[in-house]
Amino acid sequence: MPQFNKQLERFQPSAINTVFSLAGKLKSEGKDIVDLSIGEPDFDTPAHIKAAAIQAIEADQTKYTPSDGAKDLKQAVVNKFKRENNLNYNVNQIAIDSGVKPLLFHVMKTLLDEGSEVIVPTPCWTSYPGMVMLAGGEPVFVACPQDKGFKLQAADLEAAINDKTRLVMLNSPSNPTGAAYSVDEMKALTDVLIKYPHVWILADDIYEHIVFDKFVNANPAAVEPKLYDRTIVLNGVSKAYCMTGWRIGYAASSENFMQMLLKVLSQAVGCPCSVSQAAAIAALEGPQEYLQDWAKTYQERRDYLVKRLDAIDGIECNSPEGAFYLYPGFSALIGKKTPQGIEIKDSIDFVSYLLEHALVAVVPGSAFEYENHFRLSYATSLSELEKACDRIVLAIEALS
Ligand code: PMP
Repeated sequence: MPQFNKQLERFQPSAINTVFSLAGKLKSEGKDIVDLSIGEPDFDTPAHIKAAAIQAIEADQTKYTPSDGAKDLKQAVVNKFKRENNLNYNVNQIAIDSGVKPLLFHVMKTLLDEGSEVIVPTPCWTSYPGMVMLAGGEPVFVACPQDKGFKLQAADLEAAINDKTRLVMLNSPSNPTGAAYSVDEMKALTDVLIKYPHVWILADDIYEHIVFDKFVNANPAAVEPKLYDRTIVLNGVSKAYCMTGWRIGYAASSENFMQMLLKVLSQAVGCPCSVSQAAAIAALEGPQEYLQDWAKTYQERRDYLVKRLDAIDGIECNSPEGAFYLYPGFSALIGKKTPQGIEIKDSIDFVSYLLEHALVAVVPGSAFEYENHFRLSYATSLSELEKACDRIVLAIEALS
């Protein structure tokens, strides 16, 4: 028999897609599902961005660009980092890819050898561990408990670093918890990281524009200039500008790192979509004020949801600084029985119950390497969120 890649035996397909497909199936059977499973903004891509794409098509910008992206988009990214993050790069320190997801994988391929350890604070985005393994690395999970705001603690980070550590993943604001690091919190981590010059740092800042209460999101390279050369900052237009389907992500780091990443990109990708690159320039260089309006809308939803969910007996829900996710705990409900007599033993049991009994789709904590929690996305209208809360309350009351 021909064989498959052995690494594939080590992980499952993303549980988010599994819940999403099951919810879709129930919807197609006519069930009124409130779907809080998907991490996608519910606003439309702004008109000026769409217009730039149409113009690019009409101007025949429809051919290959360099595999690491067009120079004018790289320049727009340089300008963005200067304007918003106080980080200085030149165009040779920027790479563009078809979204942050493939970019993450290409960065792992650039950095990891067989057996390289990658520190992944948990709860973590569901794709990090699988990507590390596919690139031959070993994820080393470090738990970040709810009573610490789901944030990595300096002592826990230091305890996890050893000679095999190649990379530390940071994601602020986080998927799935919404937790974001302030400058002081990030400084505590960078104070540890400057002691270990063999370690790369990856900052996945894709949710940086979605922060609340005037929170200022911190980036390790901006907080600690000594880490500038070994920090790779990843960001993209998907979440900030409601452009998930356009597939543009970008990376910034030292020229040395970029030359190596370019080796991977030049062999593994053709180029990011040329029309989407033109649209991304319009997003990054165009008006930015509406981002705050969107963040305000997300904040109203967060406040509503946290209040409703935290009031439920058996649910613990804190109020995170950003993104559009909540990560409530339900440890107190473990061992309870559903009206059908099924015992709730873990997050798969719990979310299956919510889907089948309450017709609310959320994602199990097991997908994020952190049990007895579930993730819900509030990138949906307040009226849907209200409906979801009413149903969750009734479903939890029905447990015995
Ligand atoms: N990082 C995180 C933390 C995410 O949540 C996502 C999308 N869900 C991505 C990266 C990938 O974003 P994209 O590929 O759309 O740029």
